[in-house]
Amino acid sequence: MISDPNDVRENNLRMVLDMIREAGTISRVDIARAAQLSRSTITNVVNELLPTDLIHESGTVSSVVGRRPILLEFNYDARALLGVDMGASHLTVVAMNLGGRVLAIRRESFPVLTNPDQSIAEIQRLLREVQAEAGYDQEKTWGIGIAVPSPLEGEKLDRLSPIIMSHWIGVDLKREIRAAMRLPVFVDNDANMGALAEKWWGHGREVHNLAFIKVATGVGCGLIINDTIYRGEGGTAGEIGHTSIDVNGPLCRCGLRGCLEAMTGVPAILAAVQAELDNGRPSLLAGKAVTVADVVAAARAGDPMPIEVIQRAGRYLGLAIANLLNLVNPGLIVLGGSVTEAGDMLLSPLRQTVRERSFAKSNAEATITMSRLGEDAVAVGAATLVIQQLLHVPGMPILQVIGGKM
Ligand SMILES: [Zn+2]
Repeated sequence: MISDPNDVRENNLRMVLDMIREAGTISRVDIARAAQLSRSTITNVVNELLPTDLIHESGTVSSVVGRRPILLEFNYDARALLGVDMGASHLTVVAMNLGGRVLAIRRESFPVLTNPDQSIAEIQRLLREVQAEAGYDQEKTWGIGIAVPSPLEGEKLDRLSPIIMSHWIGVDLKREIRAAMRLPVFVDNDANMGALAEKWWGHGREVHNLAFIKVATGVGCGLIINDTIYRGEGGTAGEIGHTSIDVNGPLCRCGLRGCLEAMTGVPAILAAVQAELDNGRPSLLAGKAVTVADVVAAARAGDPMPIEVIQRAGRYLGLAIANLLNLVNPGLIVLGGSVTEAGDMLLSPLRQTVRERSFAKSNAEATITMSRLGEDAVAVGAATLVIQQLLHVPGMPILQVIGGKM
């Protein structure tokens, strides 16, 4: 229950600003109708927003009673959002406008898992670069979202997993970036951020339940259920990478055997390729240090061995996705991460396995597709986290947001 008058005012500001953002252009009448508030309340709220550069009046529209109210238009370029995809072995950093358009981007390989101090310094450097290139100063930047390759644990869901990120034990990523950049910082799991990006800007705009599955060094799954990120009781929901595919399978870094990640993650793909090469299997990949991009390139060139390795990974992913469909019944499964660059070579055996293994109805209702946002989905989702938190979560400093004093 919101009863404090200041809370009511802030809640109305947040709601009206978000409605204008969502619509692009909208009349006061339509806002009042959708918000179920009086015209005078909407007029007061809009009068608070108009002096900012977040919205402006634009044009007229005819209506049945003959009045021609001026429309309100959202200014998506008024502020920037910064997003960081902190992978196990890469960094992607974006500056984005409020409409999901990437204004500047940096991508690089970086040994994130084993080097917390250098990673934090590098993230700051890249953040300053994209912020400067996009042309936004501190006052015009709403904040920073950081996607981490780890579930978030602890009572406040703000601790990195000590199992996945053992070198980062005792490091307060959020506090360090906030202190250095003097901006609000939000941290969440990378697959959750991929799911958020798809929900806001990608394939997921029309569905209420979706899963984003990231297949990279780690294999993770962000779940959106009833339009909200589903975290579970302890924050570890969606750890599809550690569901069991083969009880006698290879040892996983989590300590269990035959996890999906231990059979389809980048290290598993590279180990499978190496095992074939060690057996004397002829391949374009023989005699060189191989990356997952090399495996994909060789497969595209028609090399049978890497094609088999990718198809096998596709079947394992299909098994896990069939289980997910039967359990949760999402309408959309979006795949992202470096392994999914293999495209149809991975997707065809994956879909075939899903058809064979899932309950027919849940399968028939689901679309399985590659991310429209490509390799930047997680960084875009991290930037989206800033606006999602500021505009959708009660208690966030909305007056500072609209005043441009974040
Ligand atoms: Zn595992």
